Amino acid sequence: MFRNFKSVNKCAYGRGSFDKLGDILAEKRETPEACMVFLVDEVFKGNQPFIDRIPLLDQDLLFWISVSEEPTTDLVDGLRDEILEKKGLPAGVIGIGGGSVMDTAKATSLMLTNEGSSTLYQGLNLIKKPGIYHVGVPTISGTGAEVSMTAVLTGPEKKLGLKCDWTVFDQIVLDPDLIETVPTNQWFYTGMDCYIHCVESMTGIFKNTFSEAYGWKSLEMCQDIFLNSEDGRSAENEEKLMVASYMGGLSLTYSEVGVCHALSYGLSKIFHYHHGIANCIAFNQLKDVYGEYVDEFHAMVEKHNIDIPQNLSANWSEDEIDQMAEVAIRLEHMWIHAFGHNWKEVLDKDRIKGWYRRM
Ligand code: NAD
Ligand code: ZN
Repeated sequence: MFRNFKSVNKCAYGRGSFDKLGDILAEKRETPEACMVFLVDEVFKGNQPFIDRIPLLDQDLLFWISVSEEPTTDLVDGLRDEILEKKGLPAGVIGIGGGSVMDTAKATSLMLTNEGSSTLYQGLNLIKKPGIYHVGVPTISGTGAEVSMTAVLTGPEKKLGLKCDWTVFDQIVLDPDLIETVPTNQWFYTGMDCYIHCVESMTGIFKNTFSEAYGWKSLEMCQDIFLNSEDGRSAENEEKLMVASYMGGLSLTYSEVGVCHALSYGLSKIFHYHHGIANCIAFNQLKDVYGEYVDEFHAMVEKHNIDIPQNLSANWSEDEIDQMAEVAIRLEHMWIHAFGHNWKEVLDKDRIKGWYRRM
């Protein structure tokens, strides 16, 4: 399979990098009036020391982004319209937050130059024009959204990414200082997104030596962080997690996710579970597919005393289980990756429903 993808153009890594963001942006302001748009996770609202570090000039715009729901096509279309109305085309968009805010920034950059609703562009290579300069600053690590070529949006009909070369960030700033305030349960759920990306990437047919180099290394770092070290949230481990997330994302670009992500999409679509926790709910029950990795996951859950929701299916109707299975079974590329081109010989909707019933 021929794969030829764009990478993030520039990557700053290290503690204190966030304080260089003003200098980085200055180079991209072609006139003194050039406007930058900052999309910032609402969790930082009221956190004055943090706000003081955002290099906001008088002409810039700042939007607080609520992440109580994962990003929607409506959110992005609304941001685009408001920005164009207030400022015309800005010089850049900067997303400061987790996967939700980074995906919102990637999508907003694209929608500022592509007409109509973002629902028109959910899919591969549907975007017609390059977006504007965009920067990602993760404040929680695991999704790999900082490095991936997709911006996942929930629309009225589907949860699907705007995926093309232009989606990829022009610049990312990886500053491990920024992730220290993440609550432990969330640290674990989003961190496990990275662990699961690696497990899935490394256990399917689409992997190659290139994705393996990133995938095995990232997996090893996750094991160090979540299992083998005394203190999972040590300064060194926060640094490792930022790099593991980046490498897990790169591994996936050159491979594919698998069973857990297919099931997780069903959970998110029907019951609106967020990505990280949905993955944990699903992976918890996938011993028959991912074997020792699921044992290892259980050990990590126990070590950090994390709450993974269980016995959910007791409250699900047969129809809801059927709807989730329908969402999952359509993700054919994930099943091919996990079970091979003859996946229909080992998998049908009943097996998928069986997994949901265990959750
Ligand atoms: P998130 O962005 O929703 O953030 C999770 C929670 O952590 C939120 O409550 C947020 O406010 C909080 N938070 C973030 N940084 C914090 C900090 N420094 N201190 C305290 N709280 C903080 O979660 P996520 O798991 O990073 O991202 C999930 C999203 O990413 C989903 O929308 C999913 O679809 C998307 N995703 C995208 C890709 C991709 O390749 N584009 C890959 C995986 C997931
Ligand atoms: Zn994921």
